Amino acid sequence: MATDHAPLPTYTAARGSVLPASLTPTLIKRLAERVVAAVDAARVGTNAPYTGEPLADLPVSTPVDVEDAYARARIAQKSWAATSLSQRKKILLRFHDLVLARQEEALDLMQAENGKTRRDALLEVVDIAITSRYYARNAARYLEPKRRRGAIPLLTHTTELRHPKGVVAVVSPWNYPLSMAAGDAIAALMAGNAVVQKPDTQTALTALWSLDLMHEAGLPAAVWQMVVGRGSSIGGALMDNADYMMFTGSTASGRKIASDAGRRLIGASLELGGKNAMIVLDDADIDRAADGAVAACFPSAGQLCVSIERLYVAESIRDRFVDAFVARTKQLKIGAAYDYSIDVGSLTTPAQLQTVTAHVDDAVAKGATVLAGGKARPDLGPWFYEPTILADVTPDMTLHEHETFGPVVSIYSYRSIDEAIAQANATPYGLNASVWSGNGARGRAVAARVHAGTVNVNEAFAAAWGSIDAPMGGMGDSGLGRRHGADGILKYTEPQTIAHQRIQGFTPPASISPETWATLLTGALKVLKAVGVR
Ligand code: NAD
Repeated sequence: MATDHAPLPTYTAARGSVLPASLTPTLIKRLAERVVAAVDAARVGTNAPYTGEPLADLPVSTPVDVEDAYARARIAQKSWAATSLSQRKKILLRFHDLVLARQEEALDLMQAENGKTRRDALLEVVDIAITSRYYARNAARYLEPKRRRGAIPLLTHTTELRHPKGVVAVVSPWNYPLSMAAGDAIAALMAGNAVVQKPDTQTALTALWSLDLMHEAGLPAAVWQMVVGRGSSIGGALMDNADYMMFTGSTASGRKIASDAGRRLIGASLELGGKNAMIVLDDADIDRAADGAVAACFPSAGQLCVSIERLYVAESIRDRFVDAFVARTKQLKIGAAYDYSIDVGSLTTPAQLQTVTAHVDDAVAKGATVLAGGKARPDLGPWFYEPTILADVTPDMTLHEHETFGPVVSIYSYRSIDEAIAQANATPYGLNASVWSGNGARGRAVAARVHAGTVNVNEAFAAAWGSIDAPMGGMGDSGLGRRHGADGILKYTEPQTIAHQRIQGFTPPASISPETWATLLTGALKVLKAVGVR
């Protein structure tokens, strides 16, 4: 059933500049000047999603600019790797303080470039503070030399060292422009690497803002640099010079990056797409779960890699849950405002609006029922789309299995937990999931059966994402490698084992026959096992 609203007028013109006062032309120009590019570089413009108005005019980097950035980074990395961990820690903690102190500027920038609400933007500020504090305070325990059990007890002195990879390439997307840009660079920098980063052009100003602050915090020049351009133009130079690739984006791009990294035999961490599921168990608190579903499906207008697009509800509570969820969704305030008054912001680009519209229209044409939303809102701005809940979604509809990356969720019901888990796992993706239950242990047991890198119990995504001491990332088509925790920093290092053999090694001394040596050696192994050596 399609919506019963009359067609809305097409959004036509920008309504005068509505950029907040903090985003002065001077600031925007200063940030744009941080892009590594020639003085006479070609330019690329971006538009503010709230109005479609021109926002930034950025220089475009060429492959030669990328190579120059790497050349400078290689020199800078040598001295950066020689700085003490405590010096790096001080810089990161200063960065933490600067981000919090200047948060209003960051929030304005994120909203202007991405079209998200201030509340969604605030989560990115919080995330960067958590990430910089965590790696500043914990890097030493991951990176400092570690004694390891030697080959021969007491005689082999074995140490594991962690060297930086060198120069790490970071490719970050437009949907979480601060979290994804600075968040992935922080751990690489803390581990002693230099970083050459390509933030998505649409949200490059936010990324450049974080670079600006990191330099103000004391990071030496050239240790972290940014280039701007299309993947098809500078992606090759970025990959060919990198010692490690950290990529966030679509699964299709991730496959190409993985194959290029394979050709070069460098490591890559890939944070890719998802089709995340929420399971509401029959004992869930319906009001809490309905609030949770709103929080799970519509942050950043659904342009969040860990947001929920499939909702499985126990049949016995389906109607009550749907009523509660639909009522809350219909009350959401959609719009553009540089304050905390809005619940759902704009999509970021015309391409996103096109995908969302195409997915919903296809589903409706094939028989899906629109329970809430279901249409674009050109009266609010060029790329707004209503938070949308669909029922009666069938496998022949595109959005049944393909990621929409917008404010659209499909509701299904199930009869048994086995059926719920089978449906939730019927996807090649495996990024994030959410399980709701009145019984924590039951919720956690179901969570462990879901094929996803993070599963939140009685929370949408923030509990797992914010648990920065634990790994975060995707299974299956959702990626390779993890950010956060030990994995999130150790991946940026090259482990090296130094084993110093003292007095006697594995070669028999001249005074002992090979037969006696064999008896002694195997006897020693039996003793080691008997005394409980691991
Ligand atoms: P995309 O893959 O088309 O582009 C992402 C970025 O990568 C762009 O800036 C692009 O220029 C760059 N890029 C693409 N190919 C490249 C190459 N070969 N070399 C260098 N750079 C290259 O993705 P998109 O459609 O813009 O972003 C949305 C997708 O990203 C969704 O599928 C979403 O799920 C995913 N995503 C995942 C996470 C996560 O953490 N798992 C986070 C955000 C977005």
